Amino acid sequence: MAQVQIPVDSPFGLANLPYGVFAPAGGPPRAGVRVGDQVLDLAAALGDPVFAGPALNPFLAQGPARWREVRQRLTSLLAGQSGPPQAALHPLAEVSLLLPVEVGDYVDFYASEHHASNLGQLFRPGAEPLLPNWKHLPVGYHGRSGTVVVSGTPVVRPRGQRKAPADDRPTYGPSRRLDIEAEVGFVVGTGSKLGQQVTLGEFAGHVFGVCLVNDWSARDLQAWEYLPLGPFLGKSFATSVSPWIVPLASLEHARIAPPRRDTPLLPYLADDGAGPWGLNLTLQVRLNGHLVASPPYATMYWTPAQMLAHMTVNGASVRPGDLFASGTVSGPRADQRGSLIELSWGGHDVLTLPDGTTRTFLEDGDEVTISASAPGPNGARIGFGEVTGRILPAHG
Ligand code: MN
Repeated sequence: MAQVQIPVDSPFGLANLPYGVFAPAGGPPRAGVRVGDQVLDLAAALGDPVFAGPALNPFLAQGPARWREVRQRLTSLLAGQSGPPQAALHPLAEVSLLLPVEVGDYVDFYASEHHASNLGQLFRPGAEPLLPNWKHLPVGYHGRSGTVVVSGTPVVRPRGQRKAPADDRPTYGPSRRLDIEAEVGFVVGTGSKLGQQVTLGEFAGHVFGVCLVNDWSARDLQAWEYLPLGPFLGKSFATSVSPWIVPLASLEHARIAPPRRDTPLLPYLADDGAGPWGLNLTLQVRLNGHLVASPPYATMYWTPAQMLAHMTVNGASVRPGDLFASGTVSGPRADQRGSLIELSWGGHDVLTLPDGTTRTFLEDGDEVTISASAPGPNGARIGFGEVTGRILPAHG
C-alpha cells in the first residue's frame, strides 16, 4: 500500500479522476484512472474484472449508479491513509495510452454560432452566414467511428478530389488545405431503446464523460463534395481524441448557462428551466508548440444535452461507447477561433508564428495539440490532458 503523491496544483487531483485505457510496458491493455502523473490500474486496485479489458465500454454500460459508486470507492482509496496497492500504480511516463472506448456511432455537431457564421461567410460569400435552420436545431452529421484514433496517432495527409471555384474541372491529389477543428467530445455510457427519446433532463443518466477531439478537415475536398449531403471524405480520414474521459461528475463546477438565445426553441430543446449544460471549458490550440488560439467552450450556442435530445428525438437509439462532438469551438475574438480556415480567414491572412514560420493550412510534419481545463471545487482545476497529432506526407 502507498499513499498517492499528487502535486497540490495538479489538474488531475481527486476532484477529477478521468478514465482511460493504458498498457504498461509489455502488458495487456486495461482501464485506468489518472491521478497526478500516475495511472491507477482499476482492475488491480478494485479487484473488479469489468476493468480488465481493452475498452471502457462494459463499465460505461453499467450506468450512473455504478459510476458514482466507483468514484466514491476511488476517492476513499486515494484519500485514505494506506492508499492503493503499490503494484496498481504506474508512472504515466511508463505506459502507453490507448483509445479509451470502442467507439460505436460517431456524430459531429456544429454548435458554435461564431464558427458556423465564420464558415458560412467563407463557404457561401455574399449569402446569409447562418442557414435558416441553424438557431432552431443543433446541426450535425454522422461521421466515421472506425477512423477515430487516440491522441499521438500520426495523420496521413488525405488525397482526394478538389476543385477551386476558378478551376474548370476537379483534380485529384493530396489535400492542399488541411485543417484542424478543436472540439469537445461527449461519450455515451448508458444506451437508450430504439424509439425512445432522451430528454434534456436525462442527459447525465446517459452521458458518462467528456474528452477533447480534433476533427481533422481537408477544406478543399470538403468544399467540392459537401453539397447537398454534407461532410464526407474531407473529414472521414481521421478524427483524434484525447486519451482521458473526464466524468460529468467532475464538471459540476464547470456548469454554466449557455449564451442568451434570440430565437424561441421547440419544447424538446428548451432548457431554460432544465439546469442547462453549458460548460466553462477553455481550450488551447498549439501549432508546433506555439499557442495559436484559446477557444472558450462557454460561448457555444447549443449544449451537449440539447445535442443528445436532438440526436434521439426521432427515436434513434444510442449505445455505450457512442461519441458525439460539439463542432469547432470558436469564440467571438480572432484569437478564439478553433480552426485554421478561420484563423487565416480562408487562407488570405497568413499566420506568423513566434519562430518566424508562416502558415495558412497545415504542412507535412506539423504537430497540432489541443488541451483544455475547467474550474473545479475550491479553486482546483480539472484537466483534460491533450489531443495531439502530427501530419505525415500523403502516401505516394
Ligand atoms: Mn467538426
